Amino acid sequence: MKYWAYFAAKIAATAGFLSFVWYGMNRLMPDPQPFLRYRVGRFAQDLPWTTAILAFWLLSLGLLAVVIWDQRRRCRVCLALLRMPVEHGSWSMATLFSPPRTESICPFGHGTLEVPEIQSTGHNPPAWHAHDDIWTELEKLDTPRK
Ligand SMILES: [Zn+2]
Repeated sequence: MKYWAYFAAKIAATAGFLSFVWYGMNRLMPDPQPFLRYRVGRFAQDLPWTTAILAFWLLSLGLLAVVIWDQRRRCRVCLALLRMPVEHGSWSMATLFSPPRTESICPFGHGTLEVPEIQSTGHNPPAWHAHDDIWTELEKLDTPRK
């Protein structure tokens, strides 16, 4: 819940920033002069406005990509950036036995994110593996097996 609320907050902040930029563009760039009696449209007929729309579009997509990229690198529980990426698997046996993947861990031990490096069998989304409490796991190691 906290993970998605943080994502929604970042999206809302980005939308607020972009609406501020949009307001500034409308405020700073005047309407084009009428050509004879024809009122020229802003988009696709006025080069500065069309260029500004292109830059605004690229800025919007870039910010959205940064928000998603940052969100995918965070712990699902505490939102800390995941650390210590470790590569597993082998590129020589990538198709069947041991596909290469990268695992990153939460610095507070909440879980591990496993990101596949290849997509040999279709889309493989990153998998989050939640860890138990560290003391519970230590007690499990200490109890004798029957
Ligand atoms: Zn965490």
